[in-house]
Amino acid sequence: MYDIGIIGGGPAGATLARLVCSGRRVLLISNGRQKCCGGILAPEAQKLLAQLDLALPKSVLADPQPFAVTIIDAQSNLIKHYPRQYINVNRNKFDQWLLSLLPASIDFRQNAIYHKAELSNNAENITQDNYIDIHFSENGKHQTAKVKWLVGADGGASSVRNHFFKTSAKLKKYIAFQDWFDDNNVKIEPPTNMQYINFHNNYVGIFDEKITDFYCWTIPKDGQLLIGGAIPITNNARNNFEKLKSYLDSIGLKTNQIKKKELALITRPMSTSAINLGKNQILLAGEAAGLISPTSAEGVSFALASATALANAFNSNKNVLLEYKKNTKNIIANIKLKYLKSPAMFNPHIRKFIMKSGLTALKK
Ligand SMILES: Cc1cc2nc3c(=O)[nH]c(=O)nc-3n(C[C@H](O)[C@H](O)[C@H](O)COP(=O)(O)OP(=O)(O)OC[C@H]3O[C@@H](n4cnc5c(N)ncnc54)[C@H](O)[C@@H]3O)c2cc1C
Repeated sequence: MYDIGIIGGGPAGATLARLVCSGRRVLLISNGRQKCCGGILAPEAQKLLAQLDLALPKSVLADPQPFAVTIIDAQSNLIKHYPRQYINVNRNKFDQWLLSLLPASIDFRQNAIYHKAELSNNAENITQDNYIDIHFSENGKHQTAKVKWLVGADGGASSVRNHFFKTSAKLKKYIAFQDWFDDNNVKIEPPTNMQYINFHNNYVGIFDEKITDFYCWTIPKDGQLLIGGAIPITNNARNNFEKLKSYLDSIGLKTNQIKKKELALITRPMSTSAINLGKNQILLAGEAAGLISPTSAEGVSFALASATALANAFNSNKNVLLEYKKNTKNIIANIKLKYLKSPAMFNPHIRKFIMKSGLTALKK
């Protein structure tokens, strides 16, 4: 019997487990899979790490550290560089580091897969008084655990959210493709009419409505280059991603021999109604709750912020859901603000105007 069962050992789950464990029995279930991610820590994520009194260890940092984001508008062929203090990390090592901070009192199942949960005693509705039976597998064996609270911190494709709640149509889903290339299979040879873009140093964002209504990126990392894109889910999604690579080739980024191919579901809240913090004893945090930037897909800061908000709600010893809602007001307002500002990035005419005028609204 546990007080809290947390599904997912990403930034949200690991942070919540660490902050909420004092005096409580906490079960953390993680499948231990490596997260497909760009591994860019935005200033908001850095600020939260500082507030949590966490200093990033050197072993987590990736090379190089980009000081600028380069924005390419494929329709107008405009290219702009904006200074921005990002931190480039190895995402797997970052997650492992957060998990290494967990106190021994937490029952951490690192290679376990959550399957389903049901209310104890066949109760039909979630109420304050039910316990929840979690079903999971570990080393091929079926296990169950009884918890008072269940937290889905299991990312964009959250099984907890899917089991217990109807996902809002306003939570738009994309497939994120990410191909990795060794640097020696990357050449930068722009045609004479194109500016040289230093893909080996810069974090590059690419906007091309023919490929996606969201955006694409390239990120240099430890002697490799990642080419990624968040593409609407259609039968043509992979073809559209290939179009991105052809476009990049046409402006001088020549790549061959893919080292690793990754894909993941990524969500994008198109309204604050897409955000679901849960109900009664079943709560959602991080991307499982729909907390992710609708403009840049930056999600680590929202995972850290919502986990902290939920831990504070538990630790207040008041009504957890009410406190969690109060504590996430600013986080949700931030998502709303980003959404309101999104035409500056995603409307081709406004974006072109901003890029030509040199305004800074395109900083993510
Ligand atoms: C391609 C891509 C690039 C991105 N780039 C960036 C970036 O550069 N910077 C940034 O800030 N954000 C980025 N994001 C978004 C960011 O990765 C997420 O928003 C963030 O990781 C959310 O954290 P989380 O803890 O809520 O969920 P996650 O990090 O997704 O963690 C969920 C955890 O739950 C585990 N899990 C899921 N289902 C189960 C199950 N059934 N049983 C057990 N465990 C389970 C998963 O393996 C995972 O470890 C990117 C996302 C994608 C897809």
